Amino acid sequence: MDHLTMTIRKQKNIALIAHDQKKHELIEWCEAHKDILSRHFLCGTGTTARMITDYTGLPVKGYNSGPLGGDQQIGAKIVEGKIDFVIFFSDPLTAQPHDPDVKALLRIAQVYDIPIANNKASADFMITSPLMEEEYEHDIINFKQNIEKRAGTL
Ligand code: PGA
Repeated sequence: MDHLTMTIRKQKNIALIAHDQKKHELIEWCEAHKDILSRHFLCGTGTTARMITDYTGLPVKGYNSGPLGGDQQIGAKIVEGKIDFVIFFSDPLTAQPHDPDVKALLRIAQVYDIPIANNKASADFMITSPLMEEEYEHDIINFKQNIEKRAGTL
């Protein structure tokens, strides 16, 4: 089998991340979708998580701050199958010291076929999808088999 079928459960593990100039936009978005978000498990990069909890009261588990490795921690959780939905309000107009980490997170979300919104309109479409209330099965690369194949041929 080249692929494995994974399930994004009805109750999703959602990561919330916003660059500094986008933090209040994400907080407002969380407030607007508070009812839906409260039915899922929330986590985020350190400052974003803390501010969302302070402003909205939603419980958000905080990882390290983004520039200190928080985006990488979230990427690692995607690899482990522990995060399956990402809202990432990135700032396209400001240079980020941790740009390589941001790119790595986007890439790993793509590899694992994780829904990821990088602006408000995408996030609005995702959060109002009927799939938010359902389990969703998707295929990801079978990494065990991939290693066996690579180890046998390289
Ligand atoms: P922060 O990190 O929530 O700790 O500010 C976000 C980021 O810049 O990736």
